[in-house]
Amino acid sequence: MVVGMAATGIAPTGVGAARGAKTGANSNKMDPFGRIIDYLRISVTDRCNERCLYCMPEGYKGWERQPDHLTAAELIRIVRAAAGLGFRKFRLTGGEPLVRGDVPDIVRAMTEIPGVESIGLSTNGMKLAAQAQPLREAGLRTVNVSLDALDPEIYRRITGGDVARVLAGIRAAVAAGFERVKLNCVLMRGVNERELWPLVLFAAAHGLPLRLIELMPVTTTEVLTERNFMACGEAMRVLEQRDEMAPQPDRKLGHGPARYFLLKQTGALVGFIGALTNQHFCDQCNKMRLTADGKVRPCLGNHIEVDLRSALRRGADDTVLRELLETALRLKPWEHQFRNQYQPCRPMTAIGG
Ligand code: SAM
Ligand code: SF4
Repeated sequence: MVVGMAATGIAPTGVGAARGAKTGANSNKMDPFGRIIDYLRISVTDRCNERCLYCMPEGYKGWERQPDHLTAAELIRIVRAAAGLGFRKFRLTGGEPLVRGDVPDIVRAMTEIPGVESIGLSTNGMKLAAQAQPLREAGLRTVNVSLDALDPEIYRRITGGDVARVLAGIRAAVAAGFERVKLNCVLMRGVNERELWPLVLFAAAHGLPLRLIELMPVTTTEVLTERNFMACGEAMRVLEQRDEMAPQPDRKLGHGPARYFLLKQTGALVGFIGALTNQHFCDQCNKMRLTADGKVRPCLGNHIEVDLRSALRRGADDTVLRELLETALRLKPWEHQFRNQYQPCRPMTAIGG
């Protein structure tokens, strides 16, 4: 659903109102609440070669039509407009971005756009072993790999995929010399809870930061139940039984909202992404999203979208694209709706996780 400006309901309420929307603060990359928004996450496809319990609804068939996906040329036009507006950091995601064969070409073209400072990729790692080196050579700087379990059976139960391929992908990414390779794990009580410690040891052994992510209601899958939901605080207590955790309040690895801790004995660096339980999760938000079918989405947990693809296909020039991006920026709500019985209207694969 593409929501018009009049129907957005973004008037500041709650915490936002307390902070106060800054009037006239919309110059370039600032949202109405004074947050600098300079990070665009781009879903390059809603297709995927895995079927994660928490992401793809069972029997999902709601794929975007292939002709509705942005072409590489259209993606580049939008990145250029965004960079012109002040966006500096970009991440390619999906769906699984590497099921699309032209990602190295997209990365290479993005590196030539003035203003683009950093390009990252989020991947499930299944195709990373073969792609890591070409991506690095194309100018990709950072890679986040999803890894919800090390045990092959548990990994397969969660994702439908083969953990050996993911581990080969991680090794290839490290060998390719990316500036940073991070691991992402979605927390699910009773599903991968017992994998947390092995994942910490794996992360420490390879010197890779591990981020533990709370389940978010971004898809209507059966796993999104209260029983399966594991808060970051609960995961912290699990890890505290094994190691002393020292908060790293000044540690910023990349552009995301993780809060990092150093585990003193193992040396692991573990970040917690608590979209549901961290009441200040949105305070420092710096991003918007571009959906696989060309809509700019100012917030993952809100249905507001601004349609860039239609404008592009009507022949809009860069000025119009920048204006539409600015419209999305103005519509950015203070916080997500995940704690307010949020009903996702389309899955994260299309929106870009
Ligand atoms: N396919 C790639 C991958 O799996 O990394 C990129 C897309 S995926 C949608 C991006 C991130 O979103 C992954 O780290 C994934 O674990 C996370 N994710 C997907 N569904 C989620 C959910 N319901 N709650 C929390 N994180 C989720
Ligand atoms: Fe695919 Fe990533 Fe979603 Fe898993 S989390 S189903 S790998 S898009």
